[in-house]
Amino acid sequence: MQRRVIVAGAGLGGVVAAMKLAQGGVDVTVLEKRRESELGPDQVDSMDLAPMNYAGIEIPERYIKTKIPLSFFSRLPDVQPLSMSFREESFNLRIDRKDFINYLISLARKAGVNFEFGRDITAPLILGDRVVGVETQFGRVYADLVIDACGMNSPVRAQLPDFMLSERTVSKYDYLHAYRIYFKRVPGAPEPERPYAIYLWYPGSKGFNWVLSDDPEEVDVLLVSFAELEPEFVDETLSQLRAVNPHIGEEVTRPGAYHTIPLRQPLSVLVADGYAAVGDSAFMTLPFKGSGMGLCLMAGTMLAETVLGDKDGFYTAETLWEYQRRFFTEQGSARMTETLGKNILPYISLEDIDYGFKNGVLTQKDLDALGASAGVGSMISNVDLSSFIGKITGIITNATLRKALTGLVRRASKADRIVSALPEKYDREEVAKWQKRYLELFEESRNSDDTSVTVFGS
Ligand SMILES: Cc1cc2nc3c(=O)[nH]c(=O)nc-3n(C[C@H](O)[C@H](O)[C@H](O)COP(=O)(O)OP(=O)(O)OC[C@H]3O[C@@H](n4cnc5c(N)ncnc54)[C@H](O)[C@@H]3O)c2cc1C
Repeated sequence: MQRRVIVAGAGLGGVVAAMKLAQGGVDVTVLEKRRESELGPDQVDSMDLAPMNYAGIEIPERYIKTKIPLSFFSRLPDVQPLSMSFREESFNLRIDRKDFINYLISLARKAGVNFEFGRDITAPLILGDRVVGVETQFGRVYADLVIDACGMNSPVRAQLPDFMLSERTVSKYDYLHAYRIYFKRVPGAPEPERPYAIYLWYPGSKGFNWVLSDDPEEVDVLLVSFAELEPEFVDETLSQLRAVNPHIGEEVTRPGAYHTIPLRQPLSVLVADGYAAVGDSAFMTLPFKGSGMGLCLMAGTMLAETVLGDKDGFYTAETLWEYQRRFFTEQGSARMTETLGKNILPYISLEDIDYGFKNGVLTQKDLDALGASAGVGSMISNVDLSSFIGKITGIITNATLRKALTGLVRRASKADRIVSALPEKYDREEVAKWQKRYLELFEESRNSDDTSVTVFGS
């Protein structure tokens, strides 16, 4: 009998998994709350080429661009910005997100996936031990497997029962509040010296802003913070940025929008009977910067291959466990180490940033090393971590921050061991024990004002 899979939400990982499942002969329907024309944030984002190759998706030429080095600016007027440099010209993808989701949907449709738009999912349907479908505003939809691709605030993940080892809350510093807007460039205004400017000013909030000027027509302005962004704060920050970037015009080319971005370790348990989470609903972003597209494509591929491997179509936690094992084996250790690094950020004050710029805590040489590696994530994940932290703890004066950094080195050394301890087969008790060990690693590293909040359904 042909099995039926529902993908809840047209998240990127869900659409990729849907396409591959349909190619494998599975009956797949994507239920998405928005209209098709409203899909994808109206923004341009970066991704490496590798995840597209991993997922076997042809890369449209129009996305391939030269990588732009980042420059970090201090709020102090007399301090020179620090710029990353790449040893050689390197390329990545600059992706118009509306174009990209339409591209993936066209591939999925070609493979036979059915899409239903305007379908708002309100909850999972649970029967006994199993997820058997979803509740929507138009009634119940049953399936043999529900793939949760509803994003960070997924109402499906957040309402799974405890015995499925679900996680319902995230911590205050486990996600960012973001505001993104694009303005027309002022004709004739001087070209900015640094096309990718990151401003580590965060008066009143922990966060940063960027002004990205790689496009001849428009300027990309992003504000991110661990604190909620109030409209007055946004207006004030935009005028500050305009004052030092006269090329930012007043005319809006892509409307301003508020977002949340997960910035934490991947969800501890990705599967249950009849259920698997992928993408932002499973917190699959690079925890230092919030990029998630690449992980979506890779995890969507891993999930589809696991599902297709279950020839009997049981789709239980036991048969889906291979997906969890593969994701954690390929990605777990790096994402865990990055999360521990990210958990340092709440310990850093604005004064520490000023001190860092004035006293060379981060030098041009460090940034060159970053540019040569694949970015903050891979540097945090590689063996240089302890010598780098040894160097900076010798310079910084904030004792609490120094202690947090020393703890980071100790905890990061446990990541590999925790991944290796992942049970080979799904056994609820064993998995619960592993989950506890996994989550405790991050709990220990939290700042004292880092409290848990429930964030689903918004
Ligand atoms: C400002 C910003 C900048 C970013 N920059 C980058 C970058 O440069 N590079 C990068 O790789 N990543 C970036 N990201 C992250 C990236 O957008 C996500 O990690 C990635 O899109 C994965 O999310 P997703 O597709 O799983 O979920 P989402 O993008 O959240 O998609 C979820 C889908 O589910 C639908 N949905 C939600 N709830 C329901 C419901 N109840 N019923 C039915 N459907 C529902 C939504 O409408 C949506 O279509 C950025 C994110 C933001 C916000």
